[in-house]
Amino acid sequence: MNSPGTSPGKSKNKSEKEKTNKTKTDSALPSDFIREIIDEDLKTNKNEGRVHTRFPPEPNGYLHIGHAKSICLNFGIAAQYQGLCNLRFDDTNPSKEEVEYTESIIEDIRWLGFDWGDRLFYASDYFEQLYEYAVQLIKAGKAYVDDLSADEIREHRGTLTEPGRESPYRNRPAEENLGLFERMRAGEFEDGTRVLRAKIDMASGNVNLRDPVMYRILHAAHHRTGDKWCIYPTYDWAHGQSDSIEGITHSICTLEFEDHRPLYDWFLDQLKVHHPQQIEFARLNLSYTVISKRKLLQLVQEAYVSGWDDPRMPTLSGLRRRGYTPEAIRDLCERAGVAKRNSVVDIALLEHCLREDLNKRAPRVMAVLRPLKVILDNYPEGQTEELDAVNNPEDASMGTRTIPFSRVLYIEHDDFREDPPKKFFRLAPGREVRLKHAYIIKCERVVKDEKTGEPIELHCSYDPETKSGGVKAGRKVKATLHWVSAAHAVEAEVRLYDHLFSKPNPGDVEEGSDFKAHLNPNSLEKLTSCKIEPGLADAKTGNRYQFLRLGYFCVDPDSSADKLVFNRTVSLHDEWAKIEKAQKKM
Ligand code: ATP
Ligand code: MG
Repeated sequence: MNSPGTSPGKSKNKSEKEKTNKTKTDSALPSDFIREIIDEDLKTNKNEGRVHTRFPPEPNGYLHIGHAKSICLNFGIAAQYQGLCNLRFDDTNPSKEEVEYTESIIEDIRWLGFDWGDRLFYASDYFEQLYEYAVQLIKAGKAYVDDLSADEIREHRGTLTEPGRESPYRNRPAEENLGLFERMRAGEFEDGTRVLRAKIDMASGNVNLRDPVMYRILHAAHHRTGDKWCIYPTYDWAHGQSDSIEGITHSICTLEFEDHRPLYDWFLDQLKVHHPQQIEFARLNLSYTVISKRKLLQLVQEAYVSGWDDPRMPTLSGLRRRGYTPEAIRDLCERAGVAKRNSVVDIALLEHCLREDLNKRAPRVMAVLRPLKVILDNYPEGQTEELDAVNNPEDASMGTRTIPFSRVLYIEHDDFREDPPKKFFRLAPGREVRLKHAYIIKCERVVKDEKTGEPIELHCSYDPETKSGGVKAGRKVKATLHWVSAAHAVEAEVRLYDHLFSKPNPGDVEEGSDFKAHLNPNSLEKLTSCKIEPGLADAKTGNRYQFLRLGYFCVDPDSSADKLVFNRTVSLHDEWAKIEKAQKKM
């Protein structure tokens, strides 16, 4: 999972590669080896001082958090240098691409907070130009039509240690190649019977230079060009030329394309067109999840998750549904830095970024997930009080609200123990606790289920003089519990999530097994009879709250007029803060 490169050990310039954003500390803006290259280019007035980047997704799946990293980098650099960043769909493979994916990608990038102005492009818009370029190469004796099958081409390709063998069709005259290529385009040949290949070097130490395929025959409708084409350019052929056509100055991509760079350079040099500089950086990896469209698609197709936007998915649509904010995701991408070596970011850091953001802006409310009934025997029957509650102690401008208090309440089942162990300071028989924003109560009697012995109802008394903010409010008790008034509570379903995988690196599996072997069977828990304070009755999809003592939650689109559904976005418990503290001690 860590090293997607095709040729291991090909590190030419180690010290340069190991530079990360930590090398430059004197400037306010974060720097890294990519920005250093750009700074240098600006000094020498390369590209007339222009900075033009692009984000080039293939519309064959939904965007994941790894893509967010690339988006933040490309759009971020453009903004920082007053340059431009294009959105370009690399839609060269009609068999795997769908309009649904294109639409979701556009939505996700907007949601993350980036804008491409009027520069939304598609590689398929360049099909004609790419065809013309291919014709140029054929005429120059630099490309040929090969009749070998895909299997035969693979056999001829050689290995990392053995050179490849030339195809018997390699030395066809240009005229013959031109004629065949035209006929390929005209639809005269079946899928897979011929390809157009670049004529470079079958003995090259870099397998990417062993006469790579530029066009294959595929009688398939394309979501944009329809039936116009039955030959499609390969990614390797389309990518660099598309960047060139758009006048991109810095083609930023991930490390696995490092070995393709000589090929992209070769194409651009042969064609003598604008030559963007490709710069590779390490992919973002995250623990306890998989970041690969191919693997995520498997989870969707084989129904391990409810869809691309399942709140457990590391997709942007999944994270959004879960309640993640664009700010938190951008923060993570920045903190992860830009490196030349692959590494894994701890998912706890992502959660930490989110807590920091939500702590400031999510209103704090009360909800009881596993309700236990409390009856205040000395509280007047039929009476309701409206109690004042602050919405966020971190931000006075978020104001206050009132919450109803009455004789019958719910507290959290976990907050009561009949036989409290040491250090359990919450409610127990004979013991007092404070109810948040309300009174001190004392547990007088427990009613238990006759069969199971489980407590089903607590009879308590309340002390009328201890109202929060009142004269005797200062009396000390050891715990403050959240609660809701039974008669006023709104019913809700709450979905609790855990990591999608139970291993930090799900790709680390025994032979014969795959990443799905480590799916966490307990990644989703649905609680169906939760009680929420009544102010949330008309909460809207996407609204985010802190449920006191329980975590951050947001309203799921599955909510209906009669039932709210909440996702727990993240608990309050900060694993990352602990990790950081431990790191500091070391
Ligand atoms: P996947 O491996 O998940 O299918 P991909 O690289 O095939 O991803 P593309 O649609 O080709 O997906 O990616 C668009 C851009 O996002 C590319 O420039 C790619 O390098 C970048 N990208 C993809 N995954 C990551 C990642 N984990 N970290 C950083 N950038 C990424
Ligand atoms: Mg790709």
